[in-house]
Parts: sequence; structure tokens; C-alpha cells
Amino acid sequence: MERVYNFSAGPAVLPEEVLREAAGEMLNYRGTGMSVMEMSHRSRAFEEIITTAEQDLRDLLKIPENYKVLFLQGGASQQFAMIPMNLMKNRVADYIITGQWAKKAAAEAEKYGKVNRIASSEDRTFSYIPDCSDLPVSEDADYVYICENNTIYGTKFHQLPDTKGKTLVADVSSCFLSEPADVSKYGIMYGGVQKNIGPAGTVIVIIREDLITEDVLPGTPTMLTYKTHADAGSLYNTPPAYGIYICGKVFQWLKRMGGLEEMKRRNEEKAKILYDFLDASRLFKGTVEKKDRSLMNVPFVTGDGELDARFVKEAKEAGLENLKGHRSVGGMRASIYNAMPRAGVEALVAFMEKFEKENLA
Ligand SMILES: *Cc1c(COP(=O)(O)O)cnc(C)c1O
Repeated sequence: MERVYNFSAGPAVLPEEVLREAAGEMLNYRGTGMSVMEMSHRSRAFEEIITTAEQDLRDLLKIPENYKVLFLQGGASQQFAMIPMNLMKNRVADYIITGQWAKKAAAEAEKYGKVNRIASSEDRTFSYIPDCSDLPVSEDADYVYICENNTIYGTKFHQLPDTKGKTLVADVSSCFLSEPADVSKYGIMYGGVQKNIGPAGTVIVIIREDLITEDVLPGTPTMLTYKTHADAGSLYNTPPAYGIYICGKVFQWLKRMGGLEEMKRRNEEKAKILYDFLDASRLFKGTVEKKDRSLMNVPFVTGDGELDARFVKEAKEAGLENLKGHRSVGGMRASIYNAMPRAGVEALVAFMEKFEKENLA
């Protein structure tokens, strides 16, 4: 069977080139006579895989010297706890609530200290990013937390909040490597890789060195202490080895494509095709305030639940998969990550045009 255009929010589409390369190395990775899945994480071959992956990521994001790159497990959700456990020295943190993921992160942090929700867009179903130019940042906040791209609602911080000197912590799961970023503005930038980088099971944490300390909350498990993993180069225990290997291939693919400037150009071009269509459509409409639109996740509706369901079903029959919106919002959502080719977006828009003609009285 042919491959489909997969618009899933995550786990999500990966570059076909990467999948083919991995398939070619499945039984015998570069003369080792074994798959990467079967090899020791202490072997020379794996050491080269993880070192190269880290260096390529550093090159792509121009990560400053005073930041560590950690390859961890537990998904993005485990970071919701790991962040307060490691950073809450004063037991106070400020959270900006722009969707379900930020909400969950704030609720988790509340187990460890005082959480101030200093801004929110919940009043209008998270369809925008609140003004973050002059926030009531708490005097004693250990950090300010954002979810930079809201996978479910399709909004993105196009400008980082003014944290008034406090450490910024950002969940970038669904916009990781979609465009260049200035890492030096963040204390921690982290993401589950299954949205834009690799297979589920690996989470990447980019953390400023001064935030890596032994001074963590009492009772913090060894495995949830950043220092454990930083000191061991992500090899304290068995890392998500196969996931790291695929991430490494995606980093090399991104470099071959021309790096993050070029990805940004492509992502803007792809998103424009879809947003321009939505803005002109008489049947479909986008659900997000224009200035805050994500380049990665594009939610839209017809306004009629039954028609939405039929659209999703007929799109699937046409080879356009996983267009159903998140269960908490309904409607549709097209996730158009780095690996979604322009042709996939064009095929989606062509299908939407056809559906619109057939269904407008
Ligand atoms: C998917 C997602 C998560 C949750 O990731 P898990 O790896 O499943 O824990 C968290 N934050 C954002 C922004 C996401 O898109």
C-alpha cells in the first residue's frame, strides 16, 4: 500500500528519507552486524550516534556552550513534574495558561509549590495568546512557564513573554526545530520528540548549566534530577537508544534541507497555502486569532458537527489521514510539521475545495 498524507498531531509524520535509511540499516547497522535496537548503549557505535546527534542539534539551534542537551524518557508530561522538582527553590512559579498542556503542567507544579497563573486565554477557548508584554511576574518566582506552541488549539507565541528577568521555561514539543530560536533566552527549552523530530519515547531537554544543581526538592528521585543525566551525558541508565538514533537522522536531514532558516521558509509557505484557503473559504474557517496562528497545527471547522465528521471520513478515504480535531475541541486539525511535504498541504486544500463545492447549497 502507498503511504498516506498523515496530518496527525503526534506521533506524527517523519521524513520518508529517514525511514528508508533506518530500514536499510535495520538488520546490520554499518557493519556492526546488529540493529541499533540490539546494541549496547555503551558501545562505540552508539556513542558515536549520540555524540553526533547532540552536535548536529547544537549546530542546528546554535546552542550556546553553557547549555546541556539531555536525551530523556518519560515524555513531555514527565517534565511537568521534573521542572518544579529541580527549579522550585522558593517554591513559587508563574504559569501562562494557553491550553491543555500548560494547564496540566501548572496543575502538576502545584503539587510542589505555589503556582501563579499570571495570564490565560481560557476565556475564549485558548484561541489566542494573551498579551505578555507587562505581566505581573511574581517577585519570588523561580521561573516563568509557557507552552510555546499549543498543539491542540493551534496558537503560537510569536514573541516570547517579558519575564522581567526570571528564568523562562518552555515546552516546545510541537514547534521544536520548525524555525530558528534564540536558546539563550530560555532557561529550559524542552519537548517530546514525537511531534516534529522522531519516534515517541524520547524527550529532549536543553537546559542552562546554572539550573543543574543538587539543590532539588527533598525526595526528588535520582532519575528525575537533571544533574544525574547531565553528569552522565544522558547515559546514567539505558537511554531511549533507538529514538535518539532516529532523532539523529532527522537532524542530519534538517541540515541537508538547509537548516532551520530554510525550514521556517518552507513551513511559512505551507501554512500560508492552508490559511489563505481558510480565509477565503465560505465553508471552512480557522478558529485562531490570525496574529497568533501556529505554523504547525491548523485547526478549522465548518460550524456543523455532522459535516465535520463527514469531511474527516471522506478525507481519509482520499488518503488524507488524522484530520480529526482534538477530542476536547472537535472540528478538524491539520498538523503540518517539518516532514509534511508541500504536496501534502496542496492535496489537502484541493480536497477541501472539492468538498466545499459539493456541500455548499
Ligand atoms: C503532545 C504534547 C505533550 C505531551 O507529550 P507526551 O510526550 O505524550 O507526554 C506536552 N506538550 C505539548 C505541547 C504537546 O504537544
